[in-house]
Amino acid sequence: MKITIIGTGYVGLVTGACLAELGNDVFCLDLDEKKVALLNAGGIPIHEPGLEEVVARNREAGRLTFSTDVEAAAHHGVLQFIAVGTPPDEDGSADLQYVLAAARGIGKHMNEFKVIVDKSTVPVGTAEKVRAAIQAELDLRSTYATFAVASNPEFLKEGAAVEDFMRPDRIVIGVDSTPEGERARDLLRSLYAPFNRNRERTYWMDVRSAEFTKYAANAMLATRISFMNELANLADKVGVDIEAVRRGVGSDPRIGYSFLYAGCGYGGSCFPKDVQALERTARGYGQELLILRAVEAVNDRQKSVLGNKVAQRFGADLAGRHFAVWGLAFKPNTDDMREASARVLLRDLLERGATVAVYDPVAMTEAERVLQLDLTAEQLARVRFATSPHDALSEADALVIVTEWKAFRSPNFERIKAQLKQPVIFDGRNLFEPSTMAELGVEYHGIGRSVLT
Ligand code: NAD
Repeated sequence: MKITIIGTGYVGLVTGACLAELGNDVFCLDLDEKKVALLNAGGIPIHEPGLEEVVARNREAGRLTFSTDVEAAAHHGVLQFIAVGTPPDEDGSADLQYVLAAARGIGKHMNEFKVIVDKSTVPVGTAEKVRAAIQAELDLRSTYATFAVASNPEFLKEGAAVEDFMRPDRIVIGVDSTPEGERARDLLRSLYAPFNRNRERTYWMDVRSAEFTKYAANAMLATRISFMNELANLADKVGVDIEAVRRGVGSDPRIGYSFLYAGCGYGGSCFPKDVQALERTARGYGQELLILRAVEAVNDRQKSVLGNKVAQRFGADLAGRHFAVWGLAFKPNTDDMREASARVLLRDLLERGATVAVYDPVAMTEAERVLQLDLTAEQLARVRFATSPHDALSEADALVIVTEWKAFRSPNFERIKAQLKQPVIFDGRNLFEPSTMAELGVEYHGIGRSVLT
């Protein structure tokens, strides 16, 4: 099938590469000339396990092309996937300017039937705006062409995006019940048929419900995290181990274990903005989403928990203190630092006068870029970009762990103790057992793990 993907970010690039892997002829459009040049030279703009191989294989096979040519993109695919960013607007609502620009690009050039598939996370009612934008362009050119707008939100996780796309839990598709909508349904059914061989994974619904489903899913996951984080902060006060509680609670099949880990807050490009956007949608309809307002507030506060624990232990003025920070990406297996908790921690430590040495297995280049935006030149001068986890530790007063990379899970504690000025670990992801740390002679500060013995 001929497919166009508009936007080659995390979602667009993975979608394009994976659909090419299934044998489709995929044309990827991006307006970022540098990104397209890099992809055409065999490079990959993001870190995503397995992606490089899939992209290379399909480029070589001629099934995957990258271009900035809007007209060629509009002519190529009968299916036109919109996978551009939907960042938060100033008021927290989803900024649709990129989605609507992509829609206008299609409308300016299409001459025959197309199915426009919204893969970006977009608020309820966006498909109608996309439809109107395309129709306006057709009218301007006095061109008659039929088209359908479908919603197919993406549920892949950064860090496991290729795997998630190739083995999805579910595929949500919203189509309307017009003749064009029925054609869209047939095309999308054949496109996704390879994923449904063993069991049906597609949930068909109307367009607005599909748009809403994506926000509901992210809001639910964010709620579970903030719920556990709030309880973890209480656990620290009352002398309870939140990890024991998590196991006890998660064993109830009505609750389950996933997304109940306490930590130093969620980040990334999706949860924070999607929670906000759903709240904003509700407000537009005169309803306040009280739970989500709290989810957001708890998360904002949670990002400061590590900085506060450090200040409690070493004093509010950290001048003359030096800290090692392991993990900068918002989660493991990605170099994405959007809304990452590490950014808040570093600001907190540097504002209090400390110096830091930071290390992340893949996000170092991205860290250099974003920290320039976050910090003053004077603060940046107090950051050392270390070359390895152990390089970061030298002469530090304590180690602070922010991202749960596998490489940090079983470190050489004797070496850590030898390198730190004193054996103190602040663990923002509860990687270690407090009892083991006590046996090793490490002063350990987890999240919600101050059990009274
Ligand atoms: P991203 O910022 O990584 O990539 C967006 C790309 O779109 C950029 O390369 C940009 O240059 C390009 N672009 C913008 N306007 C364009 C236009 N008019 N024509 C062509 N290209 C254009 O974004 P992302 O993380 O891939 O997210 C895309 C959408 O998918 C968002 O709505 C996001 O909420 C949603 N989503 C993201 C994830 C994730 O894990 N990142 C998961 C599920 C859903």
